[in-house]
Amino acid sequence: MHVEVRGLDKHFGDFHAVKDVNFGITKGHLIGLLGPSGGGKTSILRMLAGLETPDSGEIIFHGKTVNNLPPQEREIGFVFQNYALFKHMTVYENIAFGLKVKKVNKNTIQHRVAELVELTGLKGFEKRYPHQLSGGQRQRVAFARALAPEPQLLLLDEPFAAIDAKIRQELRSWLRELIERVGITSIFVTHDQDEAIEVADEIMIINQGRLEQKGTPWDIYKEPKTPFVATFIGESTLIGSASELKGFNNAGGGKPTKALIRPEYIEVGNLNEFKMASATEQGIVKHLHFRGSEWLVEVEVNGHKLVTYRSLEKETLTPGQEIAVLVHRAYLFNDDRSWIQENG
Ligand code: ATP
Repeated sequence: MHVEVRGLDKHFGDFHAVKDVNFGITKGHLIGLLGPSGGGKTSILRMLAGLETPDSGEIIFHGKTVNNLPPQEREIGFVFQNYALFKHMTVYENIAFGLKVKKVNKNTIQHRVAELVELTGLKGFEKRYPHQLSGGQRQRVAFARALAPEPQLLLLDEPFAAIDAKIRQELRSWLRELIERVGITSIFVTHDQDEAIEVADEIMIINQGRLEQKGTPWDIYKEPKTPFVATFIGESTLIGSASELKGFNNAGGGKPTKALIRPEYIEVGNLNEFKMASATEQGIVKHLHFRGSEWLVEVEVNGHKLVTYRSLEKETLTPGQEIAVLVHRAYLFNDDRSWIQENG
């Protein structure tokens, strides 16, 4: 394990910001720290970087505990959302900065900067100043500057938050390729689930100071361990008591059990055409939203709003229409455990 964190804990005054966080990261992986604002993502990152001291817990890089090492001795590269480039320095000088500080000789610096300019697609921009670059270009300079001293670990705190949607999309795939080419272990903080799902090898969901779940985006989507994770990743409806749904009313053996339903597990159809199986609910179409390639359909069943998709080929539904609804699967949760149950 390249990075290992054990029992990491941090208070700010009375506020418990990070609560007994444990994880390991394989070398070369890109990990997304994902969660709502104020959950503790940046605090975890800052402790890894040595910019904040943990109350307790151990931070281990490559088998060595680094808790007592200052930031500059941890071999870490940083990229923040607000560029933080040196305004009075050219692209070349910005990228060379960390190497000059390390007193690397001039030839080596020239060679390394040329390599990074190539790698980050900034050839021809070496003499420009930050104000002569677009937001996306500036952020690429920030990556080149962070990578120049060949760090062991790259920490990225919302690196694309200040960049507009289209460029942001391009930068995501660019980053994915860059990390693969360089092969550097990286941790990426974001509160954008699409970004985390698209870019990361594994995601860690951080909420109220706790690590709720760690896994590949697919595993987390498919097998969320807590109701929070299930509602945070992907579209879903959480129903307070599974017993309100036909087909799930014996779930949990009498214990209070929540049910979470994803759009792809719901089938809707006209009452007269749809086979009225015993588990079929009757609902009302509330809203239809056109999504370009399909319709997002909101239906109300027993006072709960469920969401599903319909392809364009099918006949159009109308709001207010009574409809048959069949929930094929649900995620069920009680205090002890979470599980997936099929209907019937
Ligand atoms: P965001 O997505 O908004 O950046 P986050 O998940 O990164 O949020 P943190 O920045 O780690 O969350 O903050 C966690 C909590 O700790 C917040 O409530 C924040 O106000 C608090 N906090 C962070 N740093 C300090 C500090 N130096 N002093 C006091 N409170 C702090």
